[in-house]
Amino acid sequence: ARRQIDSLRAKLAPSSGDVVSEAGRKKTIEVFGEPLTPVEVVDRICRDIRERGLEAVLEYTAKLDGAELTAETLRVPQAELEAAHQAADDDFLACIRRIRENVMKFQSAILHSDTTVPLESGGWLRQRYLPIERAGLCIPGGAAAYPSTVLMTALPAQAAGVKELVVVAPPTPFGSYNQDLLATCHELGIREVYRMGGAQAVAALAYGIASPLPRPTGQEEQVIVKVDKIVGPGNLFVALAKKQVFGDVDIDSIAGPSEVIVIADETTNAEWTAADLLAQAEHSPGSSVMITWHAPLIDEVEQQVETQLAELSRSDLTRQSLDEFGALILVRDREEAAELADTLATEHLHITCNDPEEMLDRIRAAGAVFLGPHAPVAVGDYAAGPSHVLPTGATARFASGLSSNDFLRTNSVISYTEANLKSVAGDVLLMADKEGLTAHAASVARRTK
Ligand code: NAD
Repeated sequence: ARRQIDSLRAKLAPSSGDVVSEAGRKKTIEVFGEPLTPVEVVDRICRDIRERGLEAVLEYTAKLDGAELTAETLRVPQAELEAAHQAADDDFLACIRRIRENVMKFQSAILHSDTTVPLESGGWLRQRYLPIERAGLCIPGGAAAYPSTVLMTALPAQAAGVKELVVVAPPTPFGSYNQDLLATCHELGIREVYRMGGAQAVAALAYGIASPLPRPTGQEEQVIVKVDKIVGPGNLFVALAKKQVFGDVDIDSIAGPSEVIVIADETTNAEWTAADLLAQAEHSPGSSVMITWHAPLIDEVEQQVETQLAELSRSDLTRQSLDEFGALILVRDREEAAELADTLATEHLHITCNDPEEMLDRIRAAGAVFLGPHAPVAVGDYAAGPSHVLPTGATARFASGLSSNDFLRTNSVISYTEANLKSVAGDVLLMADKEGLTAHAASVARRTK
């Protein structure tokens, strides 16, 4: 059974986490005129950006995205952001404002706050939470446009109090030339948007890009100031680059292609469930799985999928994705369904069987959970409040979805009175003695002698 589950997991979670590393090592691609693995390609790009800065960013943007940019055109001009905002439909802007309200409400409510633990004799201990200063948001733009990803990355950061937000999106009609995306950035007050994608964008955010023209003072002017943290989804190259720069900056997690598991039974609406499976497959690749112990539902959902597929705009890609990464799984009972879903640790878990809360209690590993027939995954993608940037590829076993708390760092603070110091002095002296650190011991002994 364990082997079957492992192979199912590999099939259903095509690329993320450890699977990202595997994909990065196996395939060979020709970007530098010789066959290299994606890991080697990303290593080279990151090294080049670090060593040659702007020149390398512009070279890779031309080579990989076919866009000939300059130091001036790499950043989206202010006027262009304003123009996109002005040209945007009132309905679209009103929709963004409503979603912003939902997301801010949730993301502000879950924020950690300072905790102070008072000690006897006057001292205290505190955990302090402070926002990072500057965050980079990766917005994909290779295959589709994602203004929603601007909302789902920028708003949690703003709820945490991050002041400087930098958006990078490939120079494509789906990326940083997309008018909806630019209008969304402007609406949220984001003024730094760069036309770059892939590993080169991640490396530029992590290392910063100096101006090719040093100022007369000798001080280097920065074209892009390095960020403290890089968040957001992307393709394999973005994922591998985030792994590579981790340590120079913080990252959120490695989010790969989308997945859903729907847990269903005799109370489930087959038409709605088919629509939910198709919505995930539409990401292409996206993995769509239904688990049920009610056998007739398998045929009902399959028929519904066929009927509804014909009506979709991306029906060919969606079918391909279903063929490759889709499954309708019949299990013995609720217990087995819970066990399988927990083991697969999916990005989106939709529990739409009878007594969904009882099922929720049985399952621990999932990126985001949707309860009941009226909570399709699409509401989490676009409007509800939790971020849609979630762990994929079974990484929900150890990783969590993006939230406002990811933009906070903590300090611990120790405030002691003389009496507090005396109360622990003996233990500190003993430990310092065990470790042979006499200066440590002296720093306490001199105060308490
Ligand atoms: P992307 O925008 O992440 O990356 C495109 C970049 O990849 C290009 O700019 C290019 O520089 C680089 N690239 C492409 N081929 C390359 C090569 N051979 N060598 C080196 N670099 C190369 O791309 P995308 O295609 O839009 O993918 C985005 C992914 O993110 C999709 O899988 C999508 O489903 C996913 N996504 C996830 C979420 C989420 O929240 N989980 C949200 C939106 C999108």
